[in-house]
Amino acid sequence: MKVAFFSTKSYDKEYFTKFNTDNIHELNFFEVPLNAQTAVLTVGFDAICVFVNDIINQETIEIISKNGIKLIALRCAGFNNVDLKAAREHQLKVVRVPAYSPESVAEHAAALILTLNRKTHKAYNRVREGNFSIENLTGFNLFGKTVGVIGTGLIGTAFCKIMLGFGCKVLAYDVRESSQLVERGVVYKTLDDLLKESEIISLHCPLTPETAHLIDATTISKMKDGVMIINTSRGALVEAKDAIEGLKNGKIGYLGIDVYEQEADLFFQDLSESVIQDDTIARLISFPNVLITGHLGFFTKEALEEIATITLNNLSAFENDGELLNEVKS
Ligand code: NAD
Repeated sequence: MKVAFFSTKSYDKEYFTKFNTDNIHELNFFEVPLNAQTAVLTVGFDAICVFVNDIINQETIEIISKNGIKLIALRCAGFNNVDLKAAREHQLKVVRVPAYSPESVAEHAAALILTLNRKTHKAYNRVREGNFSIENLTGFNLFGKTVGVIGTGLIGTAFCKIMLGFGCKVLAYDVRESSQLVERGVVYKTLDDLLKESEIISLHCPLTPETAHLIDATTISKMKDGVMIINTSRGALVEAKDAIEGLKNGKIGYLGIDVYEQEADLFFQDLSESVIQDDTIARLISFPNVLITGHLGFFTKEALEEIATITLNNLSAFENDGELLNEVKS
């Protein structure tokens, strides 16, 4: 199958080429993101392979459908960037990688917590400057702390297990409960109770109309003073302007984010020689108690291998007999 990849980086080419055994598919790697302006590039292809910040809205779908695309293969788990209704109306099928090493993201959330708490990023820089002072690097023990987990699917479950391993009390909120987690000692709560009782809150639910800006001025006001908020899920779960207010007035003690609502204009690019035009992220970067990583939760060797093999299987199954492995249904 002729597949047009968008938003590709060196690692996409490396892993997809490696696992595309016998060149079974013809893979073409475009570095540009897919959107209504770049959709013209899909002429002559059967399928597209896209990532988190490609914009597959109604306009894009109309163009790629006219160009003969039959399959949208997401090389990620989240699918909030695809207009599923428009895809269905144009008979376009959508597949994704529902699970790839959930531990990769869960461990990154744990890394954000530990870095924010124990300030290893600051200590590293100090020591490199010959400054061995530990003044102002005080952290807190994770042992015995209450961690609230919003969304206990694959990643949330892996994250709960890590936090239980630290000896934390783990509270959870999800629209469906996991008996496996309850058996391990996780306690499901209402969202309000979780917000009130947790010292650390980590988001692992998908971005949907119900979860958009789940963390805003109202929910932040219900949290404990000095709460740590971690978001490795999707940027728009957090209303960044409200988080900034919370950081300024001290309600939020720490914020660790791997995702950002406007990340499409920033992440996965080297902008070190540019003037950042986004004042919200610029303000967030300025806080001493905010840690931002550029959507690298998924970025482990194991996850890249799984993303490539599952996506290629999705493409082969569709090409061979129209089978839809890992279909995203609207
Ligand atoms: P999943 O589908 O296994 O789990 C999501 C969980 O959220 C489910 O248990 C679901 O019931 C729950 N949920 C749905 N709506 C909810 C709501 N309104 N309130 C509370 N819970 C709700 O997904 P997953 O594989 O665990 O991934 C979770 C999210 O992580 C993805 O949607 C994606 O946005 C994000 N993600 C980020 C990265 C990264 O690199 N940072 C990588 C992969 C996935």
